[in-house]
Amino acid sequence: MQMEMRSDLIVTRFPPSPTGFLHVGNARTAIFNWLYARRMKGKFVLRIEDTDIERSTRQAIDTIFEALEWLGIDWDEGPYYQTKRLDIYNRYLERLLDSGHAYYCTCSPDEITAMREKAMATGGKPKYDGTCRDKELSKTSGAVIRLKAPLSGTTVVEDVIKGSIMFQNDELDDFILCRSDGIPTYNFAVVIDDMTMQVNTVIRGDDHVMNTPKQILIYKALDCPLPVFGHVPMVLGTDKSRFSKRHGAVSVSAYRDMGYLPDAMLNYLVRLGWSHGDQEFFTRQELIEVFDLEHIGRSAGVFDSEKLLALNADHIRATPAEKLVEPLEPFLKRRGISIEDSDLLVKIIETLHARSKTLDEMAESALFYFADEIEYEEKAAKKFLKPAVLDALQLLLAQFETLQSFSEEILETAFKAVMDQTGLKLGKIAQPVRVALTGKTASPGIFEVTAIIGKDKVISRLQKAIRYIKDRED
Ligand code: GLU
Repeated sequence: MQMEMRSDLIVTRFPPSPTGFLHVGNARTAIFNWLYARRMKGKFVLRIEDTDIERSTRQAIDTIFEALEWLGIDWDEGPYYQTKRLDIYNRYLERLLDSGHAYYCTCSPDEITAMREKAMATGGKPKYDGTCRDKELSKTSGAVIRLKAPLSGTTVVEDVIKGSIMFQNDELDDFILCRSDGIPTYNFAVVIDDMTMQVNTVIRGDDHVMNTPKQILIYKALDCPLPVFGHVPMVLGTDKSRFSKRHGAVSVSAYRDMGYLPDAMLNYLVRLGWSHGDQEFFTRQELIEVFDLEHIGRSAGVFDSEKLLALNADHIRATPAEKLVEPLEPFLKRRGISIEDSDLLVKIIETLHARSKTLDEMAESALFYFADEIEYEEKAAKKFLKPAVLDALQLLLAQFETLQSFSEEILETAFKAVMDQTGLKLGKIAQPVRVALTGKTASPGIFEVTAIIGKDKVISRLQKAIRYIKDRED
């Protein structure tokens, strides 16, 4: 069972347990592993750790795939499923049993509880006392398989992020490798998988740091070289406890649904635990070029949704309008708008993408372009749709009615003509027109807005504003 491996090929992995959504903290771990593999021109493996049959669901697996795809994280190998690899685990269990590194144990749960209590009563650690260690029992129903762990000495985790961490072997105990139902434990399955998948770089959350010495003992019992380990501090909420629902949205899909761009999410999550001088904004390509393990931080990052929002706005601004058409569509659809003319949508996005923090906000801001009927904001109408501008609006309407083309340049000339006729400055005319066309006092530039809305709708919106002012006069 010796494996050939190109020693310089970096192989990383992401092995989620499919028991729910993809938490942003886990997504960050996936991103670190993926980026490192891409940077090193290595391989990134996806593995579904579904041995907890009660809690693993197909729906959770699909949610994880969707979230990874949305984030733009692709894998070179897999997805592997642990439940389909039981034969492989069994082969390695046989090997450990044959070489005397593992043994069958028939102690009942009650006996285990009793030995733990006894150990604690005498001030010791609650651990398995080795009753079956030297009995050389053979397989019987109800038996588990335990590792024959060293009773003395130390096991050192050389962590690329945290430095060396030393564990006393007498505290590690003969932990279980395989349960009585034939399902391997996490610590055993993960080692066999990483080993057989030739994973040589394991970057994971530091909630697993206590498992690593156990895994090292298994590698050693199998006489297999260790991967590089790095344990990333957890993502925290503002109160410095682990980032959870109490603090805000925690699933990757929730951010997708709120209108975040995958590149912004990627950028934010990477920066939350890694630095490159004081640079905050990174494109995906830049990250692939500069990401390294050396600059993953030792202290935990606090999830700051305001910062993520600001970064999302920066990414939206930096993305060419054509590239926002597809991601924006679901947000428009939610509002009952579907657009066949993608050139028109590009033009609309160009007017909004420097002023939208999320795609959801952008879709909301775009609504006036499509509305059949404009509702005025009360204050805006009161302030700007007044008798004093009636002449100007009527003159503008007359100008517009004669226009063949509705380009920005031609519209500008029409506005100029009305300024000359009335002696009013552009602002005095533009603001009432803005309210007439959008219902609001703030919008993208008036010429662009007018051009995009188009002649027919502009005319009917101006007519409505004129009627509104006249009704006010009565
Ligand atoms: N399935 C484990 C988890 O999701 C994987 C831990 C590891 O990376 O080894 O926490």
